[in-house]
Amino acid sequence: MSLTEQARWFVLGGDHLVLLDQQGQVPQGSKGCLPAALADAPFERFDEWQGLPCYLLDLGAEADTTMMAPLRQLMVAGDEEGFRLAGRAWQLTTFRRTHRFCGECGAPMSPKAGEWAQVCHHGHTAYPRISPCIIVAVRKGPEILLAAHRRHYQADDPMYTVLAGFVEAGENLEQCVAREVFEESGIRVRNVRYVASQPWPFPHSLMMGFTADYESGEIKVQDDELVAADFFAADRLPRLPPHGTIARRLIERSLAGEA
Ligand SMILES: [Zn+2]
Repeated sequence: MSLTEQARWFVLGGDHLVLLDQQGQVPQGSKGCLPAALADAPFERFDEWQGLPCYLLDLGAEADTTMMAPLRQLMVAGDEEGFRLAGRAWQLTTFRRTHRFCGECGAPMSPKAGEWAQVCHHGHTAYPRISPCIIVAVRKGPEILLAAHRRHYQADDPMYTVLAGFVEAGENLEQCVAREVFEESGIRVRNVRYVASQPWPFPHSLMMGFTADYESGEIKVQDDELVAADFFAADRLPRLPPHGTIARRLIERSLAGEA
């Protein structure tokens, strides 16, 4: 790259932190727009955005991150493309950080030329890990099933959201939806329908969003994961996940009565 090449610069460090400019966005311009200390840093090209190359640099888990901001800040600010690309950069970085040695033979691994992969001297190759998750809005007439999760629970103002969980080996997505909802809430569902998906780079999930209809059962909360669960109507909603999340999109879509 030349000193005058226009690009977007994704500088990562710590745990899911990103360097942002004074406008709260991923820096864009020539390399001169970055702190002087990064002038000779080994950036790698990983994507493209509106004709501009996107370069990535991981300063490491122990880096000085005083100038950096949480990745989530881009999402909360409504910067959809910035969040998607910074999330992709973080997933690639997480992969690099966690695949320094080969899982098959234990030898050191290094980046493979030409693709995002790690390879050892035996030729064993690893690719970025992606963990499929389902996330589902369960509807009962005009109401929707929402739960307060034990993780990040705030007793004074709990956030409620839709149910979600990881796909298990050998399971299809519809089975996963039915199993997760039953395990966490005691509810049986039918008519499972795919809506949309969202990569979720904390650290490497792919959220696949569904709606489903209530079939039978009484709510019985699974204590390990949930504090409370209930059916809510649009006129008495608790605090919901932020805009920009697929959870919020599923909730709003369901309450609007869309299929
Ligand atoms: Zn190996």
